[in-house]
Amino acid sequence: MQITRSSTEGATTKGPADWFTGDVYIDPVAVATTPSRAQANLVHFMPGARTAWHRHPSGQSLFVTEGIGLCQRRGGPIEVIRPGDRIYIEPDEEHWHGATPDRLMVHIAINEVDDEHPVAHWGEQVSDEEHTAVPATAQS
Ligand code: MN
Repeated sequence: MQITRSSTEGATTKGPADWFTGDVYIDPVAVATTPSRAQANLVHFMPGARTAWHRHPSGQSLFVTEGIGLCQRRGGPIEVIRPGDRIYIEPDEEHWHGATPDRLMVHIAINEVDDEHPVAHWGEQVSDEEHTAVPATAQS
């Protein structure tokens, strides 16, 4: 058993500009140690922030804890996501997720990682035009 206490020493990292648009802050929730492959992060997207297009070789689960967010798979509608929503992304399904233009969004992201399966393969940024397209669930 290993207890990692909350600490003021450098826990939160800023999402790299190659992978995110806007301000994104990442805190580790679960850190994989072999043979476990589980990895989880708490991710804060400030208003307007989102991931680039990407895919996860082993898939990904998201659980929204705060705010209002958006997600979209390649070729699919933009979906509004809210606290309590759980999103499963299939292995290698191209997608993005993030905040709405005007609200922050916080989710826990759960991934599996090993030598053959990195967390993600990253593509191009989500443009402002893509990000502000009308969501499928805007009426709800
Ligand atoms: Mn993802």
